[in-house]
Amino acid sequence: MSQETGLGNESLFFLQGSVEHFGNGVHMLQLFSNICIIETAEGVVLFDVGLELNGPRIIDEVRAITDKPVKYIIYGHGHADHAFGTQAILMDSETRGHPRPVILAHENVGKRFDRYQRMLPYHEHINRIQFGIPENIPSFSSTYTYPDETYRDTTSFNLGGTTFELRHAMGETDDATWMWIPELKTVCVSDLWVWSCPNVGNPFKVQRYALGWAESLEAVAALSPELMLPGHGAAIAGAEEIKDGCLTVARALRFLDHQVVSMLNNGKWPEEILRSFEWPEEFARNKYLAPIYGHPYFVVQGILRLYHGWFDGNASHLFPSSTAEIAREIVGLIGDSDKVLARSRALAEDGRAQLALHLVDLVLDSGAAPHDEALEMKARLLESLANSEDSFIARNIFTSSSSWPARGG
Ligand SMILES: [Zn+2]
Repeated sequence: MSQETGLGNESLFFLQGSVEHFGNGVHMLQLFSNICIIETAEGVVLFDVGLELNGPRIIDEVRAITDKPVKYIIYGHGHADHAFGTQAILMDSETRGHPRPVILAHENVGKRFDRYQRMLPYHEHINRIQFGIPENIPSFSSTYTYPDETYRDTTSFNLGGTTFELRHAMGETDDATWMWIPELKTVCVSDLWVWSCPNVGNPFKVQRYALGWAESLEAVAALSPELMLPGHGAAIAGAEEIKDGCLTVARALRFLDHQVVSMLNNGKWPEEILRSFEWPEEFARNKYLAPIYGHPYFVVQGILRLYHGWFDGNASHLFPSSTAEIAREIVGLIGDSDKVLARSRALAEDGRAQLALHLVDLVLDSGAAPHDEALEMKARLLESLANSEDSFIARNIFTSSSSWPARGG
């Protein structure tokens, strides 16, 4: 995700970006996600190949640059927007009588693909919400092209006199690869860089890794690259800027990790940690850490999930009564759901939309009439939260939830 793209939901997957040429055979096609095209004397290396629907466009752009065969396709990780444009590229090779490219990735990519196929309806559902994808468009990939070769920690190859060093990272995913090309002082980092506060602790997704993410950005900085091609958004040129960016983001992630660990060691429970962690001005104002996709609160959630179980410290919540039962008791005691809605309205007028939402939920969850009014109030409250929210993911959750049915008991 990129500040530059200013993504709206409808057009999200259909961005018609362009190819940027950096010299020395290095090109980057910037669509929803980026596709790195590296041309050597003996053929082409593609690092990340976008969404399934991006495949034909990738081939058009590669063929506008060179007739040489595509020799390697490298998946920076196995997400739907990075490892699925493969079929069109394989078809192009076949049509041209070129040898089939070698598909290279970290060993966990195959396991991810297995999981995606096992849980396809679930992934369709959560991605539709996360990215705000309209119902008439498929929200997840159905065609999986597994890697031909995998590696565990590092691997490298040489093509046409250029060295490609692949290194594994635990960052946004457990199957991430970043690629260093020493002769060109260029690094392709996939989603280790997304022009946002890192998306650790995504509300929908499996575990992500703040410390591993920090370590890999530090390793990138240590090589002093002069060009960094990220997974989303514009490339960064200049050794100083790249170093500053990578080390700033790494420092922020380490800072959050350290706080969570310290507070857990001091006997704090998740709610207190989530309400009291610090996100200093130097990070809040930093251009590399804008909470436009990921969010520091999500990062803390992700770190908690890595180190902590699900128990929140309150024994009442170990085997809780249902939300509906609790709401019925409370609204029953108040005796009048209109009173609850009136208070909710007053809170909203006072700029406390979040607290107002909890009161509306009490009415909805209790099943008390008038439901329509409460539903309408909830939709308005969520809309106002969405309008003031910077995080694309949070905004989409607020927006899509306003049309969800009321939660029932
Ligand atoms: Zn991505």
